[in-house]
Amino acid sequence: MNLPLSCRCGAIQGSVPDAARTARVMCYCRDCRTAQRWLDPTRGLDAAGGVDIIATSQAEVQLTQWQDALACLQLSPKGLHRWYCKHCRTPLGNTPAANGPRFVGLSRLAVALDDAALDARVGEPRWQAFAKSATGPLPTLASRALLPTLKVVGRTLLDRLRALTPGNPFFDAQGRTRVQPHVLPREERAALAAQDR
Ligand SMILES: [Zn+2]
Ligand SMILES: [Zn+2]
Repeated sequence: MNLPLSCRCGAIQGSVPDAARTARVMCYCRDCRTAQRWLDPTRGLDAAGGVDIIATSQAEVQLTQWQDALACLQLSPKGLHRWYCKHCRTPLGNTPAANGPRFVGLSRLAVALDDAALDARVGEPRWQAFAKSATGPLPTLASRALLPTLKVVGRTLLDRLRALTPGNPFFDAQGRTRVQPHVLPREERAALAAQDR
C-alpha cells in the first residue's frame, strides 16, 4: 500500500510507494510547534501542541511534482531543513543537515489520506517524542511500539552510506539543498515559541 503525498493546493505531489517502510510518531518539541505556527497556526497541532509525523528514509519519497513550489525553512542556521509548499504553506517534512542520516519526517498534513485510511496503512502513532515539551496533557496511545521507529532509523543510517541519488528531492549530489533555505530571524522565532506560555 502506498502513501499518497499532496500539499493542499496540489503544487507538490508524490508518494511513498511502500507505506510499511514508515513509522508514525507524535513530536511535541518546541521547534516543530514553532515551525507549524509560522507556516499555518490553524492546522497541524494537536491539543498538546504536537505534530503528527510519518518518519521514513529520503530514498522512500518519490515526488512527481514540486518544481517552483518546494521551499525550505530553518529555525536557525544549523537547524533541521523544514520543507513546505510556498503557495499553500503545507509542511512536507523535515530533514537533518545534508550529511546526516537520510531521514525525513513527513508531515501528516502532506499525506493525502483521511485519518481512517492513514491509520489503516501506517498505524496510529506509536511514540511520543519530546513529551516533556508538550503544552497540555498527552493523549493516551492505543499502543506503544518502538520497533517500527528503530527500523526506520536503521534504514536511514544505512542509506547514509550510499551516495545521494539524483532523484533525491531535497539535496543534490553534492549534498546541497536544492533551494536556498529561509532562516527565521531570531526575534521572530522567539515570538512564536513564546506562544507556549
Ligand atoms: Zn501547495
Ligand atoms: Zn519536533
